[in-house]
Amino acid sequence: MAEQAKGGAQARTAITPTRDEDYAQWYQAVVRDADVAEMSHVRGCMVIKPWGYGVWEQLQRTLDREIKKAGAVNAYFPLFIPLSYLEREAAHVEGFAKEMAVVTHHRLESRDGKLVPTGELAEPLIVRPTSETIIGESMADWVQSYRDLPLLLNQWANVVRWELRPRVLLRTTEFLWQEGHTAHATHDDAMEYTLRILHDVYTRVVEEDLAVSVIPGEKTPGERFPGAENTYCIEAMMQDGRALQAGTSHYLGQNFSKAFNIAYQTAEGGQENAYTTSWGVSTRLLGALVMTHADDNGLRVPPRVAPHQVVIVPMLRKEGAEEVLAYARRVADELRAQTFAGGRPVEVLLDDTLYEARDKKWKWVKRGVPLLLELGPKDMANDGVSYLRRDQGPAQAVRGSRADLVAGVGALLDEIQDAYLAQARAYREARTRRDITTFDAFKAYFAEGGENAGAAGQPGFAISKWCGDEACEEKARDLGVTIRCLPFEQSGGEGPCVICGRPATVDAVFARAY
Ligand SMILES: [Zn+2]
Repeated sequence: MAEQAKGGAQARTAITPTRDEDYAQWYQAVVRDADVAEMSHVRGCMVIKPWGYGVWEQLQRTLDREIKKAGAVNAYFPLFIPLSYLEREAAHVEGFAKEMAVVTHHRLESRDGKLVPTGELAEPLIVRPTSETIIGESMADWVQSYRDLPLLLNQWANVVRWELRPRVLLRTTEFLWQEGHTAHATHDDAMEYTLRILHDVYTRVVEEDLAVSVIPGEKTPGERFPGAENTYCIEAMMQDGRALQAGTSHYLGQNFSKAFNIAYQTAEGGQENAYTTSWGVSTRLLGALVMTHADDNGLRVPPRVAPHQVVIVPMLRKEGAEEVLAYARRVADELRAQTFAGGRPVEVLLDDTLYEARDKKWKWVKRGVPLLLELGPKDMANDGVSYLRRDQGPAQAVRGSRADLVAGVGALLDEIQDAYLAQARAYREARTRRDITTFDAFKAYFAEGGENAGAAGQPGFAISKWCGDEACEEKARDLGVTIRCLPFEQSGGEGPCVICGRPATVDAVFARAY
């Protein structure tokens, strides 16, 4: 517990520093104090702690269900990729070359008490940074005829990209993700699927479950995935106004099918290369969760991705402890029989660990459980309950009857879920400017600590016109600002390119980004 004086009033926060004091440090503190993850002793690699992993499991479950609804099935491919596979697609290998982990030996020998790698491999193996190449190699075997298409695959896996500047959950050398890889007979079918995953799976799950509001759109050629013809993405705004790419879906055209000979016989008996796609979301979404919903008292987890929607902390004194515990168990069982989110059972944890009730309360506030019940002898005597809604301040305890809470818990959790999404949306809208039309105004907006500095001293998004010239994009990049996407929702009409002033018709989302 930190105590801080602000504006003359005493405010207490569970996380130090606060967002306003030091956003970067606040982020690290929430990730640590909410038991989401921590950087390990292995450079650049993180440990995802049980509470954080529990959130990931909720996300995984929903994503997996939606991916399967879209027709894809799960499979698993090797962690190691022969170097020669990567060499086959020039743009792809160039994009990942600088961050590869390379296995060159297969044995250890003891020499003078030290272990030394020996047994050099004839061909080095790459620890997968992504699996287009190794899956492409299998697809070439599996696809023979037009009847084999579409081939819709998904893999849940870890990947390795050697990070020079690691940051927990956002940029780590190893992370977890799902990667979808599909092959189609036609351009249209592949393109439709690329967009279907972006809209029906990623946008929906990230907004409806994670309660993170996103802008879907297309990346500029300069920001595309290496080897893709089109890259589509969803971009979210964090509480310091920076953008975070929350998911991508790539249309790969015939680039990989030509490199890996994924060819099929057409109905007419001809030979044709398939059209492929790939798409992924990762444990980076946990970073997005923290940066979207956490506050100065810790994480706030939307009910649909919370490992438990309700935690009960019994207030046990020496006298009557057994009775209070029995009452707490009864309330837990009654709540477990309820559902929310259109039929999901309410998960309830009764925290009967031996810590002081007050410490337990703050632990769950910091972890961000949606509903925290504190049950003591008084509640029991009144057949009542006291609870905290994590979407409201930790000082605002609600008292009510046990029966009312049990009957209303599903609706209450749905209300909390909606509140989080509404807050995230309102925050982004408030920090988005659509009226910046000149480069001078653009520079002023994105200047450090400029007139538009928000809570964390940063601006937000600018949705302005862009002429399509890469030179203009580069000029923005010099200011530390990138085009996050060309949003699908376009305002229409013509205006000056915000960088060069020439006539332009396309809206672009400009922002600093993670
Ligand atoms: Zn321009």
